Amino acid sequence: MATGDDPSLNEYFRFVRSKIKSPTCLREFRTEMVDDRTSEYGEGEIVYSLSCSCGADKLSLLGHDIENNFGNKTIRVFVSPLHVRCESCNQTRLLFDNDLHGYDAELGHGSTTLRGEGDSTLYRCRTCQSAQFRMILTFYLSSETFDMAFEDELGNSRLNERPQDLFHVISVQGTCCDCGQNETMCGLECS
Ligand SMILES: [Zn+2]
Ligand SMILES: [Zn+2]
Repeated sequence: MATGDDPSLNEYFRFVRSKIKSPTCLREFRTEMVDDRTSEYGEGEIVYSLSCSCGADKLSLLGHDIENNFGNKTIRVFVSPLHVRCESCNQTRLLFDNDLHGYDAELGHGSTTLRGEGDSTLYRCRTCQSAQFRMILTFYLSSETFDMAFEDELGNSRLNERPQDLFHVISVQGTCCDCGQNETMCGLECS
């Protein structure tokens, strides 16, 4: 549901968004919340720009490029475990794994989303094949999760439930560092 028509609701989501902690899977990275997309984006989205802990923001994404069958159509999807590699400091860190992160994993429901195994591959730009991107992460939280975060803010001690980790979808948008192309690198459901 878009909230563009309701100023008080927009105000509420803006407030909670400004207070909510970043998801635990981002703790080894530097992130900055990208404000403030309330009206044209969904109410429960929180968006971060991603940098390595060393400060570099030209990064590579490692994951699993697999085929998925939808009825009679086969499409290629890029799935987790997702790692981020930084050439500047030569570190590779786990960004997201469907078995560990997001709504179903947090609540022990078991993951229904496709997940890769074995060697991972570099995500490459569809236009120029470069593997270096500036990345933006979007986490989709439900309005119930926002309410939990708001209760935290009121001192009702639901902090242990880590509402920021109960995201339903994570998507990674990249801007290619070589040709400037913007693309959705992957979008993974977690519930
Ligand atoms: Zn680095
Ligand atoms: Zn490119």
